Amino acid sequence: MPELPEVETIKTAVSKGIGRASIIEMIINNGRLREQVPADMPEKIKGATITSYQRIAKYMVMELSCGLDLLWHMGMSGKIKLADKMPEKLDKHDHIVIITDKGVIIYNDPRRFGLLTYCEKNKLNSCRWFNKIGIDPFDSKLTKDYLYNKLQNHSKLPIKLALLNQEIIAGIGNIYASEILYESRILPTRLAKDVTLSDCDELVKNTRKVLQKAIDAGGSTLRDYKKPDGSMGYFQQQHCVYNKTGQRCPDCKCNLAKTGGIKRSVMGGRSTFYCESLQK
Ligand SMILES: [Zn+2]
Repeated sequence: MPELPEVETIKTAVSKGIGRASIIEMIINNGRLREQVPADMPEKIKGATITSYQRIAKYMVMELSCGLDLLWHMGMSGKIKLADKMPEKLDKHDHIVIITDKGVIIYNDPRRFGLLTYCEKNKLNSCRWFNKIGIDPFDSKLTKDYLYNKLQNHSKLPIKLALLNQEIIAGIGNIYASEILYESRILPTRLAKDVTLSDCDELVKNTRKVLQKAIDAGGSTLRDYKKPDGSMGYFQQQHCVYNKTGQRCPDCKCNLAKTGGIKRSVMGGRSTFYCESLQK
């Protein structure tokens, strides 16, 4: 599932590969995503210029000259591919194609949990996708005090689930929640009420550190933006604990035969990885 760093990478790739461009045509091959792609969208955006790209939580937002913003969420399996021109043959699951004067944007999504819609520019913050969303990890409004107060209001929630709550911080997904807690030496099961202000300081710093490292790693995988190999946004990550059950964590000096290494448990239906020796 694309997480914040992957969406940031996709946004960078599209803004570098396509950039400021005029939309010639939008083709909907299959609009049955998480929500139906609005049927009037091709008509509404035709001829508009894409003027800027930004990321809000796990959405890529493209600002258009016609007063609309495009909102794009990759869901569970969504990918964006870029091409110089319309391919002669589309791949299976290439549901949406946007042809511009600078190249072609193709949206491929086997599981169809993605979302593509539009919103009037001045209504972006109040639209139903964003009106409840918390603070972005890289927003300076995310401080230890903000996090501490939010955690006090969710006192009975395990910290892992609080980090995944998009109304507190927007954009931390399952993989990075485990990594951030590992870096902060906090057990995922610790209750929010037992997370101190100085823990919150660590959490905020490590959220940025872990996500920035992943963004940098993703950016370094981008060579040819318009190479439609479908791999954009999915890059090999070096995780410390995620998916490393039974292995020694990078900072551990403990006896693997005694501790059994990194543990896996399930919280809120999602896999969680941690080191019992280092995380308290
Ligand atoms: Zn360890």
